[in-house]
Amino acid sequence: MSENNPFEIAQRQLDECARILNLDDSIREILRVPMREMHMSIPVHMDNGKIRIFQGFRVQYNNARGPMKGGIRFHPDETIDTVRALAAWMTWKTSIVDVPLGGAKGGVICNPKDLSVGELERLSRAYIQSISEIVGPEKDVLAPDVYTTPQIMAWMMDEFSKVYQKNQFGLITGKPLELGGSAGRGDATARGGCYTIREASKNLGINLKGASVVIQGFGNVGHFAATLISSLFGCKILALSDSKGGIMDKAGLDAEAVIKHKEKTGSVVNFPNSKPISNEDLLELEVDLLIPAALEGVITDKNASNIKAKIICELANGPTTPEADDILYNKGVHLIPDFLANAGGVTVSYFEMVQNFYMYYWDEVLVHERLDKKMTSAYRATLNASKKYNVNMRKAAYVVAVGRVVEAMRLRDWI
Ligand code: NAD
Repeated sequence: MSENNPFEIAQRQLDECARILNLDDSIREILRVPMREMHMSIPVHMDNGKIRIFQGFRVQYNNARGPMKGGIRFHPDETIDTVRALAAWMTWKTSIVDVPLGGAKGGVICNPKDLSVGELERLSRAYIQSISEIVGPEKDVLAPDVYTTPQIMAWMMDEFSKVYQKNQFGLITGKPLELGGSAGRGDATARGGCYTIREASKNLGINLKGASVVIQGFGNVGHFAATLISSLFGCKILALSDSKGGIMDKAGLDAEAVIKHKEKTGSVVNFPNSKPISNEDLLELEVDLLIPAALEGVITDKNASNIKAKIICELANGPTTPEADDILYNKGVHLIPDFLANAGGVTVSYFEMVQNFYMYYWDEVLVHERLDKKMTSAYRATLNASKKYNVNMRKAAYVVAVGRVVEAMRLRDWI
């Protein structure tokens, strides 16, 4: 495995946590690998009359605390090690927000942009058919992730319901509202991250009104982060970016206006009255808050010492390498680690499951209130562990999350 292999990084992070918690080697070995993996070849009838075979995976990492939970990615560069790493992080994520679920992840190697709607539907239905034995509301609950949508969730739920001859809304979260989706799921990841930012600013004595912010990535998570950080706290967005480049305005960028510009032109670049800035340079601006919301591996030992933000809130998965973590901690940067910062999505997914089981639906205000409670207590538990063990926030989040999984395994007599 290479140094930047995400699963290798996930295992190194776990090893460090095992060292802090003084875990027995056999327990560490159980937690280092998934409990189960399914690899499948999925034949799909294409529009041209030919059959094409797609490679798919479902990785079920750990279910000591409850049914597995994790999204499905449809991506041309999907690899089994990315899916394994994301499944591990899901296990720690459900644990840190203390919802009664385990961790899993799935994926299919494909480029949805090259598929017709019919081909995408047939692939989605075939994928869920191929894993139908190992998933379900009480076994393993799926969700959208990169390039998978509420419509794809609806097709999968429908196909699974046909297999089991009854409606199975609880199979999958991130569904359309008309099919048992939850209010408040759309912006849940960014909103949950904002609640942790509010707690961090209280802890550090930073006034968020007028605080300067940089956001890398302006997709699903990044654009909600931009609007919420302005509307909830009155922060000033100094710069933001997407894959085509970044924009900067010392007077502050209007998130809603940038969204409209991106809808019209396909990118944030060339937003009126802004200056261009590269995706690398924007990370190093002098700001109160930096929000990576795009890709993994963007903060490394090469640029970490140039980062001047007081708080980093990792809405993206895996944006910081372990070497960079140490540099940032020594510089006194307060980092809210990914599986805590972006746990709002899975928290509202859990609320969606609860509502599906009860067949009774909550309004958005109640969802926000309950999300706030979960995120706030997860942040505080992490901060307390960071002080208790004198470690950075990522190691602290691991200590809390892994500690809870180990306790569940112990109570079940698995270890
Ligand atoms: P998305 O595809 O909607 O958006 C990604 C954004 O990143 C786009 O604006 C894209 O232009 C930008 N981008 C791509 N390459 C870039 C580059 N080289 N430099 C700068 N920007 C670049 O994806 P998303 O759902 O917003 O997910 C973003 C991150 O958040 C991912 O790491 C994802 O795993 C994580 N995440 C998402 C959710 C969720 O609910 N969507 C939940 C937890 C974590």
